[in-house]
Amino acid sequence: MTRRRFIADTWTSATATLTGDQATHLSRVLRAEPGQIFDVVAGGFLHRAEITSVREDEVLFTLHEELESDAALPLHLLLAIFKFDHMEWAIEKATELGVARITPILARRTEKHLSLAANKRVERWRRIALEASKQSRRTTIPEIASPIQLKPALEREEEREQSPTRILLSETEQATTITAALAAALAASQTTDIALAIGPEGGWTSEEMTLFTTHNWQPVTLGPRILRAETAAIAAIAIASTHLA
Ligand code: SAM
Repeated sequence: MTRRRFIADTWTSATATLTGDQATHLSRVLRAEPGQIFDVVAGGFLHRAEITSVREDEVLFTLHEELESDAALPLHLLLAIFKFDHMEWAIEKATELGVARITPILARRTEKHLSLAANKRVERWRRIALEASKQSRRTTIPEIASPIQLKPALEREEEREQSPTRILLSETEQATTITAALAAALAASQTTDIALAIGPEGGWTSEEMTLFTTHNWQPVTLGPRILRAETAAIAAIAIASTHLA
């Protein structure tokens, strides 16, 4: 039986608490009562859980047995910031597909007004990721990092303890496909971690392309057509996930 799943806002080793919209939904819409059983994700682990008390702003659970659950894909999406409605779609779909982390990048060709408004959007992007995690029955919510410039983002990737396979989605690359690049890189690598970089609507500038080369990113193509950034992101994640199965 598929039970409704919730993601705890706070938890201990034996209890979980839902607040805000989730508590309101449970108490008002589902008319939840003590003794009812749901599946609850607490601290990245999925549990069967029993309601112990219900208020409109807070629902408490006792955690029972831990259930089997899927880990996030070891995929980090560096997503140049583009039109917010398209960006939100990309975050929702990337979450459904299982990415572990998304870093919004303030690219040179990110439109100025979007760059200026990006910091205020992060909370909304995190809420979208939370909702998509629940809807797709994930046990982990992808981390949505604060927006940063490309240079520090690339430096961070290089400094990580397990340096990931670094794939740059580039509409100007013609020879190397993402499949060929991933197969070769993962065969030679100690880790299955992958970072994917997607450019803004205007594409990466030549200075940004040089920066990627300096930091050892492999440019790859998704084929001869120019895709919208969000289409490229979803196609790249889907292809990368087949290399991680
Ligand atoms: N500036 C480009 C133009 O107008 O010709 C289009 C950029 S495209 C809309 C946005 C991003 O999607 C690119 O920077 C790249 O990361 C990715 N992308 C789009 N089509 C691609 C393809 N065929 N292969 C690889 N990446 C692609």
